[in-house]
Amino acid sequence: MKTGDFKVLIIGAGIGGLTTALALAQNGVHVEIFEKAAKFSDAGAGLQLSPNAMAVLSSLGLGIQIEAICCEPTAGILRDYKSGKALFTTKMKGVYEPRYGHKYLHIHRADLIDCLANAARVAGVRIHFDSKVSAVRETEKEVKIENEGQIHKADVLVAADGVHSSLRETITGKSRPVFTGQVAWRGLVPTSKLPLGTIPFAANNWLGPGQHFVSYYVSKGEMINFVAVQERSDWVEERWDIPADRDELQNAFRSWDPRVTALIKACGEAYLWGLFDHPPLKTWTKRRMALLGDAAHPMLPFMAQGAAMAIEDAWVLAHCLLQKKLDIPQALHDYEAFRKPRTTQLQMISIQNADLYHQRTAI
Ligand code: FAD
Repeated sequence: MKTGDFKVLIIGAGIGGLTTALALAQNGVHVEIFEKAAKFSDAGAGLQLSPNAMAVLSSLGLGIQIEAICCEPTAGILRDYKSGKALFTTKMKGVYEPRYGHKYLHIHRADLIDCLANAARVAGVRIHFDSKVSAVRETEKEVKIENEGQIHKADVLVAADGVHSSLRETITGKSRPVFTGQVAWRGLVPTSKLPLGTIPFAANNWLGPGQHFVSYYVSKGEMINFVAVQERSDWVEERWDIPADRDELQNAFRSWDPRVTALIKACGEAYLWGLFDHPPLKTWTKRRMALLGDAAHPMLPFMAQGAAMAIEDAWVLAHCLLQKKLDIPQALHDYEAFRKPRTTQLQMISIQNADLYHQRTAI
């Protein structure tokens, strides 16, 4: 089979779906993405892009472009929630590149999506918006989905449809992510709304009983991102990201370091997310179909590795498919075998970090 005759359908134009599409299309594979949203949204705020994620993005030719729109923190600092005093500091700027070949950067999620989507389109990827896919049919020779009355056929289907994946059940059998008893508010504040230097130019993490608060700069330093996590017994909303009640957020962090309360006060709009997790799945693949990113391994954000794992998945899946186009089930089996031990380990470490960040274990 020539690469140009090889066709892949991807469900979900998130970070995982777009990176997979780009990695395949750059090698001549015909790729179409189906995204349920009407357009890209900028809800989701900031992301920490560690050197492992940057290694993939640089190999896809996006390193310089991404660096230009990111911020490089000086250090990672764990702080006392009330006094703000540094409890543990690890230098970051100038450390990661010599050690791993790539920087540790902070980016606005919307900037990363933009960058990936533009590159994917240039490489020939077609993105269909307003296209919710919930069923797929498979024969020995192809996979099929129906969208707006049209049947789309391909050699492979990749379900990169996020933590609440509707295709997970088709591929692995019945299973649902579970609410972890934690919620996260995410918000962005223009840097100009606070006195200069209020928030140190670092990856700041204030640790308190049952709560923590992370903040860093994105968008070339023009915006300050925050993630505020609190333990809670239930999650009743149907949606998993809802506009936040500002009073509730302010009350939750009322007695914290004045830098934290000032940042919350300056925030115009924040979103509340229920944090969901899933025990490692038995399998991620079925014949010509594969799960990828949060659909395969949802994880708590306490290692800041969810997007990085989706980006790594994309690189490995593309590599396996390009090597074994004539034996797709074997290619997908190789992908899962390479990836699962690493993502399972990160799922576990992310759970353990909740205890550290919420003062249940000593630093
Ligand atoms: P998603 O980004 O969720 O994309 C899934 C896409 O599929 C969406 O566009 C959705 O609309 C679409 N979709 C869903 N269902 C369908 C359907 N049926 N048909 C068509 N389309 C569909 N990760 C990091 O690496 N660094 C961080 O600093 C970090 N911080 C985080 C902070 C918080 C509070 C949270 C909640 C997460 C954080 N993450 C971080 C994790 C990261 O955001 C996710 O792991 C990552 O976005 C997963 O990418 P994905 O492509 O698998 O899924």
